[in-house]
Amino acid sequence: MSLEQAWRSELVGTGFFALPLILLGLGTGYLIPLLWGGLTLYLGWHLYKLYRFTRWLGKPKRHPRPHLFGIWRPLMQRVDELSGRGRKRKRKLSRMLSGFLESTGALPDATLVLNDEGRLDWWNSVSAEFLGLDRKRDKGARIDDLISDPVFLNYLHAGHYGRSLQMPAPVNANISLEVRVVPYGKGKRLLQARDITRLHQLEIVRRDFVANVSHEIRTPLTVVHGYVETMLESSAAFLGPWKRILGQMQVQTLRMQRIVDDLLLLSRLETRRNNEGQGVVGVYPLLRGIVEGARQLSGDSGHQVSLEADERLRLVGNSHELESAFANLVYNAVRYTPAGGEIRIRWWLSGSGPCFSVTDSGIGIAPEHIPRLTERFYRVDVGRSRESGGTGLGLAIVKHVLTRHDGKLVVESEPGNGSVFTCCFPHARVAS
Ligand code: ADP
Repeated sequence: MSLEQAWRSELVGTGFFALPLILLGLGTGYLIPLLWGGLTLYLGWHLYKLYRFTRWLGKPKRHPRPHLFGIWRPLMQRVDELSGRGRKRKRKLSRMLSGFLESTGALPDATLVLNDEGRLDWWNSVSAEFLGLDRKRDKGARIDDLISDPVFLNYLHAGHYGRSLQMPAPVNANISLEVRVVPYGKGKRLLQARDITRLHQLEIVRRDFVANVSHEIRTPLTVVHGYVETMLESSAAFLGPWKRILGQMQVQTLRMQRIVDDLLLLSRLETRRNNEGQGVVGVYPLLRGIVEGARQLSGDSGHQVSLEADERLRLVGNSHELESAFANLVYNAVRYTPAGGEIRIRWWLSGSGPCFSVTDSGIGIAPEHIPRLTERFYRVDVGRSRESGGTGLGLAIVKHVLTRHDGKLVVESEPGNGSVFTCCFPHARVAS
């Protein structure tokens, strides 16, 4: 029976109960007391049913299921139906949840769920292996109490989750992890850690290989270059047709020496700890030296090199590295600006922090090349780069040096309209 039908028959039943009472009341003249008594009985019966119904509904396991009739029977059936549906949904959800937990548990990456206070809500078994977590002990613990690596803590608290972080596993320093945090919901975070030990080892092998080869080549190259130079200087008169060949050998060995030097510098930048050799750097005197070098490099080309610098603005960093980065940018401006062009060098404190920029009126760069300029050996025009003594490694060095100084490089350029290379550092790098 539907609830509506039950409601209708309840009304009819009540009518049948009330009608004889009304007739009896009218016949005897006791209509009000009889109706009053009948209504009290009716209300009492319903209240009793309501009591038994709510008692059973509150604790269905503790109290027997009441045998109800009238409007109460379909009501009970409806409750049964709804609770049956609820149970089914719960079973389905728990099946889905256990399937999800099983699949995330099988992931080769550590996955942790952090609540809005940074406490551990859930993690898979690999997390326990990589991060040394214990299911009973660490549930609800703060992640920054469990992983004390300062690099990780900086990353976690800085909130710049666009990039990932590489760090050794807290339980085993031989395991390298790539950690990524993904914010979601209201202040929640998903933390993933991937084992990149093999990749890291390969990277080390590559780095060592380049460094070793460069190192080994350096000495024989210096000897060959030295001999070529000596021959060119001392026996110029007897060389005859060999003079041109020796001249070319001199140029090429010099170019190779520059490449080897840049490769060694890059591998030093990759292997050194970030704060190694850092102190207060007087940028202005450093720039004056670079301007002098730029004028010499320009030679007869007559570039107009100008310097606008805040003499008191000093930076916390490594002076050799900064000099090498700034010099690369200034010398590039000279090399890629036609004779007589303008080169403007600036060093100032902007709203976002100290900035160094080089503006030239040179050949400019097409937009599709700009994102790739800092790749090793990436050159827009290989011939032009070689001709002007380039190694293709200058901007890769600049990028590394800036990363080690928490800075970033911004390139604005248009073909034929010159370029602006700007290095921006955070305020924290200003030396007081
Ligand atoms: P390279 O030794 O070839 O100059 P870099 O890494 O210093 O190598 O620069 C990469 C490339 O970026 C260069 O080959 C050149 O094509 C381009 N480039 C760098 N600086 C400038 C500039 N100021 N104007 C135009 N092109 C530039």
